[in-house]
Amino acid sequence: MTTTAAKTTHVAIVGGGWAGMSAAVELASRKIPVTVYEAANTLGGRARRVMTNGLALDNGLHILVGAYKETLRMIRMVSGTGESANLLRLPLRFRVEPDFRMHAPRLPRPLHLFAAIVFARGLAVSEKVAAMRFMQSMKSNGFRCERGLTTTDLLQRQRQPHELIECLWGPLCIAALNTIPDQADAQVFLNVISDCLAGPRAASDLLLPKVDFSALFPEPAAEYVRRRGGLVHPGQTATSLRVLDDGFEVTASHTRRYSHLIIAVGPHRLEKLAGNIPQLAPQLEMLRQFDYQPIYSVFLQYPAQVTLPEAMIGMRNSLVQWVFDRGRLCNQPGMLGVVISASGSHQALARDNLAQQIHEQLAQRFSLPEPLWSQVIAEKRATFTAKPQLQRPANLTGVPGLFLAGDYTSSPYPATLESAVRSGLACARSILNFDD
Ligand SMILES: Cc1cc2nc3c(=O)[nH]c(=O)nc-3n(C[C@H](O)[C@H](O)[C@H](O)COP(=O)(O)OP(=O)(O)OC[C@H]3O[C@@H](n4cnc5c(N)ncnc54)[C@H](O)[C@@H]3O)c2cc1C
Repeated sequence: MTTTAAKTTHVAIVGGGWAGMSAAVELASRKIPVTVYEAANTLGGRARRVMTNGLALDNGLHILVGAYKETLRMIRMVSGTGESANLLRLPLRFRVEPDFRMHAPRLPRPLHLFAAIVFARGLAVSEKVAAMRFMQSMKSNGFRCERGLTTTDLLQRQRQPHELIECLWGPLCIAALNTIPDQADAQVFLNVISDCLAGPRAASDLLLPKVDFSALFPEPAAEYVRRRGGLVHPGQTATSLRVLDDGFEVTASHTRRYSHLIIAVGPHRLEKLAGNIPQLAPQLEMLRQFDYQPIYSVFLQYPAQVTLPEAMIGMRNSLVQWVFDRGRLCNQPGMLGVVISASGSHQALARDNLAQQIHEQLAQRFSLPEPLWSQVIAEKRATFTAKPQLQRPANLTGVPGLFLAGDYTSSPYPATLESAVRSGLACARSILNFDD
């Protein structure tokens, strides 16, 4: 094993997910040397490509929203093309089978939201009035609520009807926070609502990927970094980290020294990797209070002529929460992708059984032949549970030059691509400001 000393600024980033790659791009764009270590052979972490039967699928079906400003900026920055090459941008549109439809027309705010609620199908007039009353009341409070409330507490205090919660607020909460309303922090829910629904009209747009999630950002990000002299090493697991008097030591296949270190691994990996760094004890203690929620993605390959009426459709009273037509989105004819967020009864089913039940529920609604094959990908720790009063570690650690990046670090957002990207950028900017 060799040890190489770093005399000038050279940043090691451990973790090639969206947080780590955002930090790398930001630093490389300012000519700071970076080296990224990623344990997996494919970059992207929890939003990455998984090859199945020769098709580029994802480990999880993801969507982005227009409010993801930094994520979209990063994608544009590394791709060298406009966003439309890789993402389908749709005005906010919910079709939830069997009977709920909501569509925000391209009008300036707040008219887009007003029109979406007034013209929604499947809601009684009293429910539409309640939805508008809720938005108005939250707006007048600056989208702030009492600490410690769950989303269910908040919606009940605001006298939101059961049907409205079932059709709109509940699915929004589960999709955004990956946590059911009974457990989800009301303030985090309001942060998302405020940014997505009460922001400029474009913030409420849905962005559906036309390519897999490694190709969308982490891989072009790696190319961007390499073109500027940085190193990105997929398939290199960091096995040990040490804090030195004048920097940091990272051991993977070799041991190397760096001036700065950004640890960008998922929250449940931090203890194993950095448990030997005593200065991180407070952060590790916070992470012991975390618990996690799964996300299941079920891919069903039908004959190529099978399509759905829209690219993304929700379903009520079904195991299926959202189904995506990847023929329309990613040029994968006949491929339907189903997402099931948060914990639930589906976790008790064997994978074949789950795929079969999903197929039967889809086939009841849309006319479908038997699938040719199916694939279930269960991410058991997809995100942390966004429960009330959860303390999340800051990006700065108390050790000069040592940073934590990831969707779990302190942020108004739940665990999302945007919180991951923003955390990486925050670490990079701290290094840049320090060195300026
Ligand atoms: C199925 C699923 C669906 C989701 N849907 C959405 C969605 O629709 N919209 C949305 O915004 N967000 C969604 N999310 C959340 C989003 O994917 C995450 O918030 C985001 O990808 C987290 O990125 P990260 O960089 O913080 O962490 P990670 O993606 O976990 O990256 C950490 C990286 O560190 C690497 N690593 C770990 N240990 C080591 C080591 N010792 N050495 C080197 N490398 C190491 C890992 O391999 C990994 O690549 C979803 C997540 C899942 C799982």
